[in-house]
Amino acid sequence: MERTDPEVADEIVATVRRFVEREVLPVATELEHADEYPTKLVEGLRELGLFGATVPVEHGGLGLDVPTYARVVEELSAGWMSLCGVINTHLIAAGLIARQGTDEQKARWLPAMAAGDLRGCLSLSEPDAGSDTRALRCKATPDGEEYVLDGTKAWVTNGERAGIVALAARAPEGVTCFMVEKEPGPRSGGITVTRRVEKLGYKGVETVEMAYDGHRVPASAVLGGPAGLGRGLPAILGGLELGRINIAARACGVGRAAFEAAMAYAQERQTFGKPIAEHQAIAFKLADMATKLRAARLLTRDAAERYASGQRADVEAGMAKLFASEMALEVATEAMRIHGGMGYAAELPVERYYRDAPLMVIGEGTNEIQHLVIARGLLARWREERG
Ligand SMILES: Cc1cc2nc3c(=O)[nH]c(=O)nc-3n(C[C@H](O)[C@H](O)[C@H](O)COP(=O)(O)OP(=O)(O)OC[C@H]3O[C@@H](n4cnc5c(N)ncnc54)[C@H](O)[C@@H]3O)c2cc1C
Repeated sequence: MERTDPEVADEIVATVRRFVEREVLPVATELEHADEYPTKLVEGLRELGLFGATVPVEHGGLGLDVPTYARVVEELSAGWMSLCGVINTHLIAAGLIARQGTDEQKARWLPAMAAGDLRGCLSLSEPDAGSDTRALRCKATPDGEEYVLDGTKAWVTNGERAGIVALAARAPEGVTCFMVEKEPGPRSGGITVTRRVEKLGYKGVETVEMAYDGHRVPASAVLGGPAGLGRGLPAILGGLELGRINIAARACGVGRAAFEAAMAYAQERQTFGKPIAEHQAIAFKLADMATKLRAARLLTRDAAERYASGQRADVEAGMAKLFASEMALEVATEAMRIHGGMGYAAELPVERYYRDAPLMVIGEGTNEIQHLVIARGLLARWREERG
């Protein structure tokens, strides 16, 4: 993918920041507490072209490079992390089509996805298969020119509103990625949304369980055509490299918002005759928070640059995701503590950062799994380089 002109990148990031300040911040707390889908804000994302953020220009997208996309994600998350949830799996699905799809598949889906008219989601996890993808059971049985899909998928973010699902299902050749077209809504053909998960945070955006009961798709739904049969897992896990950079950037956004709230409060709140920022215990917390936030941002930028250069970025994306998500959890907790009682009050957004941050240690592969990814990648590179 081509690199984004630095001036254009700065302009896009500044536009998103203005959108967050004017449109998102005034309403985020209220919508989040009501767990309400942010229809108007999502329309704003669409108008900004963000449903096509990383979709190549020739298919109607903005074609942003990953470092610019990561900056956009940080800005959105500093406002309300759920907005990134709305575009993340959509863009992972679009990225799968752009990288692995046939020319016909690209022409059929990408322009509509880039425009935000067709919404995508990613459906890998199952009730009994999260980290352990070998346990995937959802089945795709060939029947003439069609496949019949049966099984249950869990944790599908955007699953209900999506019109196309990047679905991992087991065909006779092995796990395959099917691009399943459906009507947005609770039911479409043999697909039913069976449960909407109530979550600690990450509210507003739906995360659902979906059952496939004899749902038929044409053979042309196989991502990449016949060559894609049995190639679903490497394709999807490759897409997760981008997903992990997204999570790291989100963590930087939530961490930044929490840090800035703590900085402001620490200078405002007085105890024992001076602002709490002048008590060494609080000042040192702020210093640690800022240091970790900066380190997380540098790791995220490094992973994004490596990905954009076309090199394998599994280790770097894993490191960025691991470090940045732990940072966000810690910084959000410290921000809450610095706010004292007010950190626990629902009227300030710090309690939201504290509830949103843990998702980043779980999503796109838990941090325990990131340790495995990093260690395996390091060992493989060591052996390659040193024989
Ligand atoms: C809000 C939310 C949204 C999500 N959205 C999506 C989505 O859109 N699409 C999608 O496909 N999935 C989605 N997921 C699923 C997510 O990717 C999984 O929850 C995650 O991969 C972990 O899988 P699991 O929940 O089955 O946990 P498990 O795999 O059961 O893990 C349980 C614990 O065991 C640890 N563990 C597991 N195996 C090992 C090992 N080998 N070594 C050490 N520790 C191990 C884990 O780290 C974890 O601590 C979402 C999850 C959440 C919470």
